[in-house]
Amino acid sequence: MVEFAARCKELVRMKKYDAIIVGAGHNGLIASCYLARAGKNVLVLERRHVIGGATVTEEVVPGFKFSRLAYVNSLFRPEIIRELRLKSYGFQLLPRNPSSFTPFPDGQYLFMGPDLETTKREIAKFSTKDAEAFPRYEKMLEKLVTVIEPTLDQTPQDPLSSDIRSWLQLIKLGLRARRLGKDFYRLATMLTGPASALLDEWFESEELKVTLATDAIIGAMASPSSQGTAYVLFHHVMGETNGARGVWSYVRGGMGALSGAIAEAARDMGVEWRTECPVSEIVIENGSVQGVITEAGEEIRAGIVLSNADPKVTFTKLVPRDKLPEDFARRIESLDFSSATFKLNLALSELPDFKALPGNAGTFNCRFKSCCNFSSGIRVILASERSRLLNCITRGILNILTLYSFRFCCRSFSASIFFSRRTSRESATKTTPSAPRKTNFRVEA
Ligand SMILES: Cc1cc2nc3c(=O)[nH]c(=O)nc-3n(C[C@H](O)[C@H](O)[C@H](O)COP(=O)(O)OP(=O)(O)OC[C@H]3O[C@@H](n4cnc5c(N)ncnc54)[C@H](O)[C@@H]3O)c2cc1C
Repeated sequence: MVEFAARCKELVRMKKYDAIIVGAGHNGLIASCYLARAGKNVLVLERRHVIGGATVTEEVVPGFKFSRLAYVNSLFRPEIIRELRLKSYGFQLLPRNPSSFTPFPDGQYLFMGPDLETTKREIAKFSTKDAEAFPRYEKMLEKLVTVIEPTLDQTPQDPLSSDIRSWLQLIKLGLRARRLGKDFYRLATMLTGPASALLDEWFESEELKVTLATDAIIGAMASPSSQGTAYVLFHHVMGETNGARGVWSYVRGGMGALSGAIAEAARDMGVEWRTECPVSEIVIENGSVQGVITEAGEEIRAGIVLSNADPKVTFTKLVPRDKLPEDFARRIESLDFSSATFKLNLALSELPDFKALPGNAGTFNCRFKSCCNFSSGIRVILASERSRLLNCITRGILNILTLYSFRFCCRSFSASIFFSRRTSRESATKTTPSAPRKTNFRVEA
């Protein structure tokens, strides 16, 4: 009997899958769905205790659930939402309204969105010329988006490939770009140039340029004057919410509801997954993948292994180096993931009281974004009466970040502070009662 049980255990242990996915981030989970739809027997192995990767909702502070990392959506492809029937698993997008709020040290503030007229009125507080230019700027971006956006759904094209499909896609891209006429040259600048040049060309108000520039440097180790940041800015106007182009949204229930819906869809398609199961090696024999070995020492066989971990982790930690061509391994090792952005999640007992907009008015949307001027800095100071410790820690982090940013980026500092409050029906969801913590926010020069 004992022998039989051991044999059964062994058989289960040796269960062979068609495909193994290392990591249950939302991209790994989506891949698992499409593989399962193609009739493959799929296993997903996740290192952490929760699925979702960077699209996760977690109770960081007892009683408060946070979208710890990713928090807004626009680029998630509508085709995937439709094909995986994610709405039937509770996936729901809540368009941001307003889309941003930027308080300034002199007591002024700028709201962007939800509609063009409101945005124009707000911009006119700083420059009537910019208010007039803004719709034309948006139109220009929308025109350029029509060229680039279709590439989001395609396998990246390799001009050196002899694959005819790759060539056809490149030709289509070229034709779309040609249709832009004179704006073609603008597209070239947009793909390679700095955001500051683009914004300086269109606008005169520093307040507007600063607000728009945050999207150009978020997550990047760059200042708005670095080459390539115009594309990051452009990237943020792609995408859509419920068919409305360029609109960003929250996910009801927090970002974890997105990965949760995909995971539910995957389960219904027969995908299996395990959490707290880090993979330590992707097994390669005779030049082809054979499966994985987990950190617990278990070997699981599969003819397809897909890594949802980033390329650096995959090729420097999971694939043995002697299985990789030397020049490829060296190029992967030199990939630079440095970033000057950080995110701070805070649990608050009430909405922030901004010096620029006292009395909590207009700050219902759970997002506060601050970014320095192109040339001079705005200091973000958190003032807390009851929570001095939190205040000290936060000031410390901000100061370190400021030094870090100024040292490495010279001209740019970007800090994004996202907060949730107990009663918010959007990204923060109250779960259990907790002691109130009062934290006031002030923005000063
Ligand atoms: C702070 C922050 C904020 C962001 N905000 C936004 C936003 O608001 N909107 C937006 O669109 N994008 C945002 N992004 C980017 C976006 O979240 C990511 O691009 C996206 O979530 C990546 O998804 P992924 O599935 O490819 O990878 P990941 O989410 O990184 O998932 C990889 C998974 O693999 C697992 N893994 C790694 N190694 C192993 C191993 N050896 N064994 C098993 N499992 C392993 C990890 O634990 C993880 O779960 C943000 C990113 C960050 C970091």
